[in-house]
Amino acid sequence: MTSVEKILSDLVAFPVLGGESNLSIIHWIKSYLESFGVITTLVPNEAGTKASLHCRIGPSVDGGVILSGHTDVVPVEGQNWTSDPFSLTDKGDGNLYARGACDMKGFLACCLAVLPKMVTTNLKKPIYFAFSYDEEIGCLAAPELIEHLKASYTEKPKYAIIGEPSMLQPIIGQKGICVLHTTVNGSAGHSSRIRQEVSAIHEAARLVLWLEQKMNTLIAQGRVDERFTPPHSSLHVGMIQGGIAPNVIADHASFFWDVRTIPLDSINDILADFNDYCQERTKQLQPTFANFKIITEAHHPPVPPLNTLENQSIVHLVKTITGNKQVSTVSYAAEAGQFAEAGFESIICGPGSIAQAHKADEFIEKEQLAKGVSMIEQLVELLK
Ligand SMILES: [Zn+2]
Repeated sequence: MTSVEKILSDLVAFPVLGGESNLSIIHWIKSYLESFGVITTLVPNEAGTKASLHCRIGPSVDGGVILSGHTDVVPVEGQNWTSDPFSLTDKGDGNLYARGACDMKGFLACCLAVLPKMVTTNLKKPIYFAFSYDEEIGCLAAPELIEHLKASYTEKPKYAIIGEPSMLQPIIGQKGICVLHTTVNGSAGHSSRIRQEVSAIHEAARLVLWLEQKMNTLIAQGRVDERFTPPHSSLHVGMIQGGIAPNVIADHASFFWDVRTIPLDSINDILADFNDYCQERTKQLQPTFANFKIITEAHHPPVPPLNTLENQSIVHLVKTITGNKQVSTVSYAAEAGQFAEAGFESIICGPGSIAQAHKADEFIEKEQLAKGVSMIEQLVELLK
């Protein structure tokens, strides 16, 4: 086993799911870093049950590079695993199997495996580690981690590499996302009283159609970005509930929906338009039923899109350290948009394939892991 493989096997043994306490794995990483003399800072949540970690290796000068990753993984329930998901398994086919092997403890292992080289090299620009929790349930911890990191150092880091699995291809664009829940409060009654009551189901249906129409309007207005699939922002309702019987007017209906935006569109603008429409409906229906209400709550703060330009120096840097000249975009959300919004030139680039993420028998190719190590070694060479 190479040193990166050994570290990965230690990391995957912590079955820390998004939403759960990650203190076990974060303390393991902290001790590892401290054994090389690195000073670490934990950024705990309010309850003290979870923590992000950041640290600097190298001098306190501007222009450093943040290496970002998350310590949580998605669940394995209901998936047909052929080996223990929390034990790194070598089946002799060139791959290493475990939950998180590619998404994204593989990248964390690469960072940690190159640490001995980092601390013994005379770096001219610093490298930072920024490791979060709860990424898999809406990139919840990154904003606080980023703010804390910015406030903790007098110098300014310039770049952020988010090591999500990309087969070490530089990813310069990512869609933003927001997940929402809308509840409609109508009035119950005999289904014949359709003029005297307000059906929550009928109103919810109207709102659902409004969302679809909004998406089509954005497309018709030419708000498209061919780098993404689909090339426009998408609005989608994934779950809907309401009503108790065919002959009872529903006093309650609710639905879950998500907005995935291309960089051209703003989640907040779309939500503002939706809220305007909700207010219009409320005004119209309150004379019939005074308690008519539509309430929309975001499941998490919006995760902004990533829109790094090809001529930004982070792109050149990552092309240099990976040897991969072809840039790409992805439609999944990650912490990269949050780092970009905070003012760092940001890019996604990490070992392993997103095609293996979140599935049974998730794996990372040993070759990818080795290439991930070499990418970070090249970074060290570049900064010395
Ligand atoms: Zn991930």
